[in-house]
Amino acid sequence: MSQIYELDKIAITVKSHRLLKVLLKENPKLEEIMRGSKNETEALVGVKHWILDQIKDKPDAINYYEKEIESGISFKTLDWSDIAAIRILDYIDNAGREFIDLNLRGQLAVSNPIKLLWLGVNKGTGGAKPDFFEDMIHLFRQLMSKETKKEYTREQLKEWMDRFPSGLDPRIVKLHEENRERILNIIIDKIDEGEINDSKYKFDLELGRTKKLEIALEWWKESTFHLRFAVRSPDLLNEFLGYSLDPDTMKILYEAEKKGIPFFVNPYYLSLLHVRVPYFAVGADLAIRHYVVYSRQLIDEFGFLIAWEKEDKVEPGKPNAAGWILPSHHNVHRRYPEVAILIPDTVGRACGGLCSSCQRMYDFQNGYLNFNLNKLKPNETWPERLERLMEYFENDSQLRDILITGGDALMSSDKSLEQILDAIYRMAKRKKQKNTNRPGDKKYAEIKRIRLGTRLPVYLPQRITENLVSTLKSFKEKATVIGIKQFVIQTHFESPMEITPEVEEAVKKLINAGWIVTNQHVFTTASSRRGHNLKLREVMNDIGVLPYYTFTVKGYMENYFNFAPNARSIQESIEEKVIGNLSESSIELTKNLAEDAENIIANINSIRKAENIPFLASDRNVLNLPGVGKSLTFRVIGITRYGRRVLEFQHDSTRSHSPIIEQMKKVIIIESKSISEYLNQLEEIGENKEEYTDVYGYSIGETEKRMPIYEYPESDTSITKEFTNLEIPDTDFATVED
Ligand code: SF4
Repeated sequence: MSQIYELDKIAITVKSHRLLKVLLKENPKLEEIMRGSKNETEALVGVKHWILDQIKDKPDAINYYEKEIESGISFKTLDWSDIAAIRILDYIDNAGREFIDLNLRGQLAVSNPIKLLWLGVNKGTGGAKPDFFEDMIHLFRQLMSKETKKEYTREQLKEWMDRFPSGLDPRIVKLHEENRERILNIIIDKIDEGEINDSKYKFDLELGRTKKLEIALEWWKESTFHLRFAVRSPDLLNEFLGYSLDPDTMKILYEAEKKGIPFFVNPYYLSLLHVRVPYFAVGADLAIRHYVVYSRQLIDEFGFLIAWEKEDKVEPGKPNAAGWILPSHHNVHRRYPEVAILIPDTVGRACGGLCSSCQRMYDFQNGYLNFNLNKLKPNETWPERLERLMEYFENDSQLRDILITGGDALMSSDKSLEQILDAIYRMAKRKKQKNTNRPGDKKYAEIKRIRLGTRLPVYLPQRITENLVSTLKSFKEKATVIGIKQFVIQTHFESPMEITPEVEEAVKKLINAGWIVTNQHVFTTASSRRGHNLKLREVMNDIGVLPYYTFTVKGYMENYFNFAPNARSIQESIEEKVIGNLSESSIELTKNLAEDAENIIANINSIRKAENIPFLASDRNVLNLPGVGKSLTFRVIGITRYGRRVLEFQHDSTRSHSPIIEQMKKVIIIESKSISEYLNQLEEIGENKEEYTDVYGYSIGETEKRMPIYEYPESDTSITKEFTNLEIPDTDFATVED
């Protein structure tokens, strides 16, 4: 007998017993089925008949249950109780399925909730944990309409938003200035005491303290200062934070250091963290803090991390998980036909900080991405390699979009960046010219969009210098002539507190250079608090940034701490983001925002005013699937005895994919955290759990439509349907389930 079935013999705890009793008391019919069934199979059949009987007069619910997307019905139109019925039926249809649980380093997980109930009722075993029973109690309350879905007024949503100040709030600006002064005084002391010896950042001996501070305030405006004085150890982190970190946190950080997890927090970003917490901003900096301070789970898992993105594992000459053949091990990543990511061999392989739930932690683990800024400078073979990489883009039939990232695209020096942009320009020109010799239906896609993936406008707004801006501006001017139409800085704001006057200024410069700035938000526990993302979207719009994606945290157990369940993301999009929804005519207007980047603030404001909305809900809430691409189209088909949900995802059918998806099974994700654990964590950070209870009911997701602004510009040429650089193996494709 496999180990997994041994678990069925485990006695349930007293707390589980109590919760089971509540469940049975509230649902006499369920109790009758459980007590009257001689074995688990009878229990499964009994529950199935009962639930089918419940929805027998609900054709939409039955249709959705049986045919889902193909039914053309949106789950949003179904009764709340029908959604519960569908989940129970899905649990039954998938009873006994085993999954490789990558949260548990590949152990097997099984979903069989009705069996666990039957074992609990009749034998007191099954080993199901209290979180499992909590989830089941809410499921049956939803089924019996004892819990209904709440709708929130605009006033309520405003009240939630107003809980979170932004970094532009004058009171916060003052606090940040205090922090800046504290950090600078520590640095001045260290220079005076000879602890820091730097050829650039030093003082004449005779200078007084006031003068030194004045000079240091000028240094603060330079990105090189922040990179030079970035904190690289727990002790320094604590010292810069006025020794405000508690001993438990320090213990974790020391362990992180021992494990080899890099530390890199620059003084500017550190100044966004509160040391003195004011009454009006309690908990306001948490989303930032949780990005800087590592969790116990990350430390335990570091060293055992596996790449979430299967398609990022590359062997040149062999197809990756999405079927694409790529030119080098590390420099090009590709999921979709139209776009590939370029990771240069430059300082761009570092970042302005290390986000604790970084999607590329695996690359930090294996040392490919790091913070050895001097060693990352490009060597003499890079220009040649860059040309070779450009040939890949030039000779690909579908690629029209390059996303330069890293690490972080703007960590590259201006010179390196100019070299990369110049290579792209020459490649795009050649690609266009070559097309003139191709027949009408055999033309290759020409380059239409350039994106720079960077968190430096947030981590280090000082990096957005006049020189950088003029490089970007002149690139845009000449690239426009050869038909490139979209110029995008793709950044990553986590919190409204990150939007400071320095950031506002940096974004203004980028916009004035004719580049639009879009945001990819990561929906961590702290940033998933009611109203947090609403406020972030509003303040981003204020400074001219467009929300692009709200991503579920990727990864396995290492990101347990920051992970907010997909149910919460769906809840946020349906209950909160709605206040930024646009009418069809305004959606059309957003099309032109990218082409008029210089006036984006005025254009956003006129749409907001016309629609009377606080922000444009231009982002889609999605998960980046470990396979090919983004989606939030899922159904909860199972639950483990720990109460962690099993989700079955379908690919986003609204965009083009590698043809490999025809062969792929649906993607299974086992979440690392139960809904109860998530709610308890929210409570620990000061939230009222009652405000979130609906979250249990969101067991179905649908990927939102993409805004026209994010579509590629229409092409004057018809592009060949033939794919190059693609090899689809003739096998049934694996998913995480196999
Ligand atoms: S900026 Fe992006 S790549 Fe860099 S550490 Fe943060 S999440 Fe990772």
